[in-house]
Amino acid sequence: MNSIILDKIVVNRNRVDYFFSVTGNIQKYFKSENHMFFEYNYDITDIPKSILSIPFVSNVIPLIWITDSTIRIDQLDKSFFDCLNNIRDAYQDMFPNIEFKGSISVNKIVTNIYVPEREAASLFSGGLDAHTTFIRIKDKNPLLITEYGWHEKDIQFSEVWEADKENAERFGESYGLGNILIQSNYGTFMRASEIDHDFNKKLGDSWWHGLHHSLAIISAAIPLAYMLKVKCIYIASSNTPLHKVTCASDPTVDNEIKFASGMVFHDAYELTRQDKVKVVVDYYYERKKTVNIRVCFKNEENCCKCEKCLRTILGIVAEGKNPSAYGFNVPNNLSEHVKTYLNQEVKFFTDTFINIYWTLIQKRMKENYTKIKYRDLLDWFLDYDFMTERKKSLLKYRVTKFFPILKRKISNKVNRMFA
Ligand SMILES: [Zn+2]
Repeated sequence: MNSIILDKIVVNRNRVDYFFSVTGNIQKYFKSENHMFFEYNYDITDIPKSILSIPFVSNVIPLIWITDSTIRIDQLDKSFFDCLNNIRDAYQDMFPNIEFKGSISVNKIVTNIYVPEREAASLFSGGLDAHTTFIRIKDKNPLLITEYGWHEKDIQFSEVWEADKENAERFGESYGLGNILIQSNYGTFMRASEIDHDFNKKLGDSWWHGLHHSLAIISAAIPLAYMLKVKCIYIASSNTPLHKVTCASDPTVDNEIKFASGMVFHDAYELTRQDKVKVVVDYYYERKKTVNIRVCFKNEENCCKCEKCLRTILGIVAEGKNPSAYGFNVPNNLSEHVKTYLNQEVKFFTDTFINIYWTLIQKRMKENYTKIKYRDLLDWFLDYDFMTERKKSLLKYRVTKFFPILKRKISNKVNRMFA
């Protein structure tokens, strides 16, 4: 029988370590240390074990479900225990090709109650989604939660984390908001590639994207949300109903998460990315503030060369604004830069990229035609047909990539025939 047993929770000031054992063949899904940790910027000594167990359970419970295993823990918060069935059902709806089974065995279910003293804490990566949610809930004076979950066995210096943290602290300071800072190995303590190897086909998605990341990110903040008596943890949406995707971070999952007297809200799902660009640029423009929108994944600053950077840059341009006021070091010849980029990369664009990002940028640029600052861009970008260009580019790519191989094969064959 497959099971995961949480053997020990060790708390030392601002750090908590989880040691667990695994029986059965699901051990292959974990690094051999069987260890997960969190380090916070607050002393967590007084937080009860039933609350501290939440992040551990959250990180492994989807695996318990898809492998029909059992998780055994000593204590767990009642509100969280009660919401697990709803979370499981939400995943089950999202992934109908796999059965979500398994069980949880808890020695002691503990009722934890508090009277909320703070309205909100909001996950804050500094990206476009996070800024949108901040603007929407700023009157609640949210604590800003910033995380780094990619440490290995222990905390190692990370320039990406230092940059994220500094940015969040600076932003918090300028708006008089507190910061919750969390470092962990939640992104590395499991062998995601092993899980993907066994389940990717059935899920039609990866473990991290489809099942793991949202619970990991949200639950990491729960112990401090409990300690600081936060009413609601906000997580900014990165998807929209315009284009249904499977994703661990979905309102049907996130909004089910409960802990002690606290709840979770998946914010701004109804907005497209372009809508969010408008919310953010308008807000800072009206206040005459420059701001760093940090969109480049695992990079210290926006590279201005990747799809995500460029789509955000053009999104800002489409709102009639200058991207350099929003944290993008835009090249002088933006129009040429984008053209070269698309020439090389459009072949790799997914339907999602095209339908919910790039064509909405074009649409908005047409609406704002007279306000666009990069006039030479308008000459070609508005009529750029992404689907056709992708097809053409793919064909060219295949020919240039495969034709020489084919030629070599044929010539080898011919040579053999006449040898
Ligand atoms: Zn980038």
